[in-house]
Amino acid sequence: MLVRARTMDACRVYRFEGGVSAWTIAKSVGLGGVNRKEDVLTIQTLLNRIAVVDGGPLPPLQEDSLIGPKTMGAIRHFQQWHQLVADARVDPSGPTLKRMNELPKRALAERNAALLSRLAASMPDLIAMAKSAQRIAEAAIDHLQLGTASLTGTQRPYQLADLYFAFGQQSQSQTLLELRFIRATFVRVGSVLTSRHPSVFGGNPFGVSIFTIDPLGKDWMAYSVMQAGDERREIPEVHSGHVYLCRSLDQVLNEDLFKHIMFHEMIHFVDDESKERQIIDHGYKEHALKLTHQLRMHNADNYALFASHAWFGRARLVASQPSLAGLIPNHL
Ligand SMILES: [Zn+2]
Repeated sequence: MLVRARTMDACRVYRFEGGVSAWTIAKSVGLGGVNRKEDVLTIQTLLNRIAVVDGGPLPPLQEDSLIGPKTMGAIRHFQQWHQLVADARVDPSGPTLKRMNELPKRALAERNAALLSRLAASMPDLIAMAKSAQRIAEAAIDHLQLGTASLTGTQRPYQLADLYFAFGQQSQSQTLLELRFIRATFVRVGSVLTSRHPSVFGGNPFGVSIFTIDPLGKDWMAYSVMQAGDERREIPEVHSGHVYLCRSLDQVLNEDLFKHIMFHEMIHFVDDESKERQIIDHGYKEHALKLTHQLRMHNADNYALFASHAWFGRARLVASQPSLAGLIPNHL
């Protein structure tokens, strides 16, 4: 299946191969093993997802790709727990890896509870971002249709929309059409968030909720499944209808930026992927403001920037994404 994944500095389409649920390594890991860095990381990550009552490590291992006494000790401990040959080594098709794969990854939920509660705390702002962006798009439409007779009587909403979408000298009727599409996109984000957020607040965090934890341990920020996938490569743990939160989100310390990223994911989430209307990725942050008008209309970060600006204002947006400073006029 195809997923759209947000990494530290890009958003790309990845293909999940069938059977990702089975964690694999290319060469042996542990005492006397080959210990390729990526294999060591796989075993460290995998061990950390196994609950202590199932033989997982306590405290959790540092996922640093480096083999050492702690990682080897955790492998040996796991083997003893499961009465396997305790040689402190995991082989690609050996019994230790097989057993690790068979176990439920119970520790995952515990480890990621903090991420979900961070998201729950963000939810009011995410909803407010959608509503503010919707209102500003509406005011911009009014301004175009009514000019000085519009309710707000100010140009700011239109200028703000023009900053992020660069309507240029195209016809007014075309701009109106596009502003209605922009507005509709924010309406969809707002209604999805308000109709599907309750489970994030105290409900079953793995129940029907948009946001859930990545069960695969990917080193990304977030990903979601594209509708235009490859059905032959379905994997049981990952479904469409969710945004999966990954461990690299821990590196996003600024809360406004965290919300921006979540909103960006929501724009993908409501995208119907039709050719004329799809919203994918062409550029982030300052790069989003250097795209052509056509690309901006189909670029998720332009929508997220508009919503961040609409709700947090220029000062907070620039504080959380400093590279934007020179591109946003002070009066907006
Ligand atoms: Zn994206």
